[in-house]
Amino acid sequence: MSKIGLEIHCQLTKLESKLFCPCKADYREFEPNTNICPICMGIPGSLPLLNKSAVEKATLIAMALDCSTPSKIAFFRKNYFYPDLPKNFQITQLNAYGNTSIGWEGKISIGNSKIRIRRIRAGTPLVEIVTEPDFETPHQVREFLNILSDLLENLNVSDPGLEGAMRADANVSIEGGSKVEIKNIGSFHDLEKAVHFEITRQQSLAERKIEIIQETRHWDDGRKITVSARTKEEEAEYRYHLEADIPWVRIDDNTKNQLQVHMPESISSKKERYISKYGITSQVADILSSDRYFSELFEKANNETNAKDIANMITTDIMGLLDTREKREVSKLEGDHISDLVEYIKSNKITRASAKLALDEVIKNGKQLSEIIEDLDLGHVSDEVTLSDIITEVLNEEAKAVEDAKQNPDIVNFLVGKVMQKTHGKADPELTLALLKKNLGL
Ligand SMILES: [Zn+2]
Repeated sequence: MSKIGLEIHCQLTKLESKLFCPCKADYREFEPNTNICPICMGIPGSLPLLNKSAVEKATLIAMALDCSTPSKIAFFRKNYFYPDLPKNFQITQLNAYGNTSIGWEGKISIGNSKIRIRRIRAGTPLVEIVTEPDFETPHQVREFLNILSDLLENLNVSDPGLEGAMRADANVSIEGGSKVEIKNIGSFHDLEKAVHFEITRQQSLAERKIEIIQETRHWDDGRKITVSARTKEEEAEYRYHLEADIPWVRIDDNTKNQLQVHMPESISSKKERYISKYGITSQVADILSSDRYFSELFEKANNETNAKDIANMITTDIMGLLDTREKREVSKLEGDHISDLVEYIKSNKITRASAKLALDEVIKNGKQLSEIIEDLDLGHVSDEVTLSDIITEVLNEEAKAVEDAKQNPDIVNFLVGKVMQKTHGKADPELTLALLKKNLGL
């Protein structure tokens, strides 16, 4: 049996400024070496200033993962040289000298398994989440990461889809072997592959009675294999010492209570509510509740009367149209559009096929639905005279089908389809069927 533990680095992408200075937290839009100040460069005489919101967001994550949380925290200097770290030390947290990280001993359940969270600590705007080696398969690892990234997105502390927002290291061992650490895994997708590769590699060594040595290996993204790392860092080499420039920070009960009160509804209770209150199917509720953007859209559109249809429209039509972050950012779709559209379909003012065209348009220009239906001429063809003319045309063109329809009633649906084609999906389906049957003498 294999044992896998994870160390995940999640950037708090929803922060305005960096953890210890007023520079922008979102570095993605800046040229290198422009989003910096004396504090983040560690120029002598500059003093770090702790970002309160970061401490709150990290505490929120700890609470959402059922961790215990401390009443005060301190920071430590972790000394090492890195080309993009001019001050040569990182300010981080350490479980030492009576000090703890911002959360410990939490858990996430996957089916019947429980993954224990060993600790959560915050360094530069990164929150580190470390698990116990509770995973047994690469698949479990993947499931855990999916749950975790949904949770972080739901808490509105991070945007896990942003490049570089989440990175992870893994430690892997098989029964009787030493622990191997895999570093440098850039995406969750690769993490599953890396763990899978490492288990296979260790099993093959064990079968050939070759000793599995304790080491750090890097994930080679190009070749999709793990390779032995040349250097091995020891904790002692970091010369941790208390960061004297930042006093101990109190996180009092009042702050924690406030965070608890404002904590977003958890994904599981949201799902439960969607099912019990609105009768939404478990599958649809699952998809909807685990996506922050679409569940918010649902809440806005939901007018209590058509909740189930609104949920179905979001998961079947809208999710496909807004499947990337870029598309969502420019989308003009509002909750009202969706509730209106569902109402229009229910009251037979528009067909489902036309509704899709209208959705496309709303997303582009955000106009009122009534305006779009008029602009695109999407209204139902429910006028009997017009429809009868079209049906006569279809019956003349489809002489063979007309003959067959008398023996096989299924062919009538084929003829309904032809009428739909001619009206670009706008014909009233029930009226079309009735008129066709009348014409065919059925
Ligand atoms: Zn700065």
